Amino acid sequence: MYYTDETVLFLDGKFIKAKDARTDLFGQTLHYGYGVFEGIRSYETVNGTKTFKALEHYERLKRSCALMGIPLDYSAEEMSQITYQVLEKNELTNAYIRPLVFCSPNMALTSPNEVSLMITAWEVDQHTTLQPAKVCISSFQRPNPKAVTMEAKVCGLYTNSILATMEAKKRGFDDGLLLDLNGFVAEGPGANFFYEKDGVMYTPPVGSILPGITRKTVIDICQFLDIPVQEKYFRPEEVFEADSAFFCSTMQEIVAIESIEGQAFAKPWKDSLSGLIRDTYRSIVLDKSYGYVIV
Ligand code: PMP
Repeated sequence: MYYTDETVLFLDGKFIKAKDARTDLFGQTLHYGYGVFEGIRSYETVNGTKTFKALEHYERLKRSCALMGIPLDYSAEEMSQITYQVLEKNELTNAYIRPLVFCSPNMALTSPNEVSLMITAWEVDQHTTLQPAKVCISSFQRPNPKAVTMEAKVCGLYTNSILATMEAKKRGFDDGLLLDLNGFVAEGPGANFFYEKDGVMYTPPVGSILPGITRKTVIDICQFLDIPVQEKYFRPEEVFEADSAFFCSTMQEIVAIESIEGQAFAKPWKDSLSGLIRDTYRSIVLDKSYGYVIV
């Protein structure tokens, strides 16, 4: 699945076999979810294997560490170079890269004694992302930003995402759309959300969402294509009136939303601005055409 007997990963300065890598059962991350991670994509592009916005991801990893009080001694450039080595050693092109910063044994609720960096990668299937999603409104809210640091990509926060995803699947949907503590639409369990209405794209502002790197790329694409884009708070009722909508994330890229709570959108995907944005995103990650202009 994620690794074979041959897989090589980076752990604390060394490249070792994944099957030989060890962690301590008394680690602070395992017990409290107090660790941070990233998810990065690489693509087989017309110019060879390339990671997409790896430096931005590693800057976010460093920021997540800083916000959480976890010391990390690597620069974004160093981690990006290590990533290319991981890809090369495993002969990967279209891959998902998972850097994880985890903490050594410490049962006290204090900053860690020692920190480890692991970077691993596995192959991804290009076609799984293309299915339109049936989405429900989750009964789970995104966490209160005054209780946790929503801007940081913290391991423990994903218990909220797992609960929302399990609930959605149990109800027969592909995914859930979570609201914030005030009842405004926030994001998916692992993706940001956009909708189209009368030629304008709307997305929630940062606060109760992870400020996604794909979200930022989508905003750049809209500006490049002269599509008005607005960050604003909105309730689910507005989404039901939308022309089209999508989730976006590094792993899933741009996923068309077919319906919300069984209610389909007005525009066929192929005629929507969302569809145009998805096609443009694909061109950019594959290093084709106008990608050069805006990234
Ligand atoms: N929100 C959440 C909760 C996520 O887990 C992710 C995936 N990292 C995103 C949004 C999208 O972020 P990005 O575009 O940086 O992958």
